[in-house]
Amino acid sequence: MSFSLAEREDTIIALATPQGVGAIAVIRLSGKDAIKVTNEVFFGKNLENQPSHTIHFGTIRNGEKIIDEVLVSIFKAPKSFTKENVVEISTHGSSYIINQVLKLFVRKGVRLAKPGEFTQRAFLNGQFDLAQAEAVADLIHADSETSHQAALNQMRGGFSSEIQELRNQLIHFASMIELELDFTEEDVEFASRNDLRVLVERILRIVEELILSFDLGNVIKNGVPTVIAGKPNAGKSTLLNALLNEEKAIVSDIAGTTRDFIEDEISIGGVIFRFIDTAGLRETTDTIEAIGVSRTQEKMKTASLILYLFDLSDTDLVEINRDINKLENLGVPFLKVANKTDKAKENIISELKAQHPDTIFISAGQKENLEGLKARILELVNLDKFRTGNTIVTNVRHYDSLTKTRESLLDVLTGLDNQVTNDFLAMDIRRALHYLGEITGAVTTDDLLANIFSKFCIGK
Ligand code: GDP
Repeated sequence: MSFSLAEREDTIIALATPQGVGAIAVIRLSGKDAIKVTNEVFFGKNLENQPSHTIHFGTIRNGEKIIDEVLVSIFKAPKSFTKENVVEISTHGSSYIINQVLKLFVRKGVRLAKPGEFTQRAFLNGQFDLAQAEAVADLIHADSETSHQAALNQMRGGFSSEIQELRNQLIHFASMIELELDFTEEDVEFASRNDLRVLVERILRIVEELILSFDLGNVIKNGVPTVIAGKPNAGKSTLLNALLNEEKAIVSDIAGTTRDFIEDEISIGGVIFRFIDTAGLRETTDTIEAIGVSRTQEKMKTASLILYLFDLSDTDLVEINRDINKLENLGVPFLKVANKTDKAKENIISELKAQHPDTIFISAGQKENLEGLKARILELVNLDKFRTGNTIVTNVRHYDSLTKTRESLLDVLTGLDNQVTNDFLAMDIRRALHYLGEITGAVTTDDLLANIFSKFCIGK
């Protein structure tokens, strides 16, 4: 879906708060007639005479009939989210009232907004660039501290300014080399090939770092894929349930909060951990034993973290060492977790401490030392890089453009090595510029915009 110019002239309306019953609901309008049309159905005072950024109490009426008592907030262009006239009407949160208000406005010629249309207008009117617009969507969907910070950082332009800076430097070189094309007769060199190589290599390093950060970005957005592995009866389900219940308890301790628990997702220290294949885990298959089976191996390799759990009441050190060996060969970071400290056999703990000093001792059943385990889990995923405010790519589209930028930059370097003609060199640089520009929206196509904004919900 893309929007024609005529559609951009429309005044649009949508419910901005979630569907369903609530204490209040907010209905938002944007467009040049937003204040004028609202004024026609609002009784209390003349909204058209009111200054921007003010709130007014009154009633919304359909003819003589009062639909609701409301608060109306007014934002005058260009000082609003969309840079157009914007009105936010806070009504009581009943779906009947919401429908009546929406119908009333539609009858007055206001159009129901399409998904993402408010944010798209904000983008088209220069409120922010594309990466920031996408961050609005990420921010709304953020459900952990880290994903919230990443989205906020991106929305405030941290990511974009870095890309923009790189692009400007490269544009300069592209134009110098293109200028040389006009002087092919004379043997002039406006752009030092050496300087160009230095710049391209520098940009390449930064682009590669951003590409690498995508893994971390993905983790922040989707959770750290984690596997609990161990023999049947090691206590895998007990541990998962203990961690899950603890999180539920913490959340429900905060009065008035509710959260939909996604089964098998746990927030530890603001980071979401996603436990994979926990259904399989309940069947108590011996996951370590099955590492030899390639399908299991592939699955375990998709994890970023493995908790290797074994039973202190039924321990065979030879077996444990064999398992640990297998896990080391797998190459996925793992923690050695000894369970059932309450039932540990004589000497086994000291023996383990001697052989594997990094073992974590817990009792999943008695909820002993879960804090210690959590601290070690956080240590292992090490999100410090993120916390220092480094730029993190969380968006697949950006990742895609960055990968293509990298290819083009590598082509520029190969071109320099092989001393290709200027027109080829300029072409490769332009290609890199194109992909970098796609990220911030300096280069856009209708398809690209349609693709991005259609993923938003209506009302955003
Ligand atoms: P799984 O097959 O690895 O998922 O193991 P389960 O979680 O089903 O646990 C197997 C048995 O060990 C169950 O009877 C649990 O109650 C018990 N269990 C789990 N953790 C502990 C613990 O810390 N101490 C004791 N004494 N028993 C435990």
